[in-house]
Amino acid sequence: MPAIWCACGEKLDYSLIPNPIEWLAIGDVAYDAYAGQVDAEALHREMKSIFECPACGRLAAFWEGFGKPPKFYAPE
Ligand SMILES: [Zn+2]
Repeated sequence: MPAIWCACGEKLDYSLIPNPIEWLAIGDVAYDAYAGQVDAEALHREMKSIFECPACGRLAAFWEGFGKPPKFYAPE
């Protein structure tokens, strides 16, 4: 089961579909290409997956896809 570990020790499972801890983000310029379209699959492929740790609130962003390690961000 694909998962990563948060620095707080929480396991972040990214195999669930849909995933309750996953957020999908898209750059504003990339999003503009979808104006007037409703192609959910194409839009989903363009989005970046960001997981929110339910224990500490850190974000793990897969900016370069799931083939590269995520970048973590901690709340202040
Ligand atoms: Zn955490």
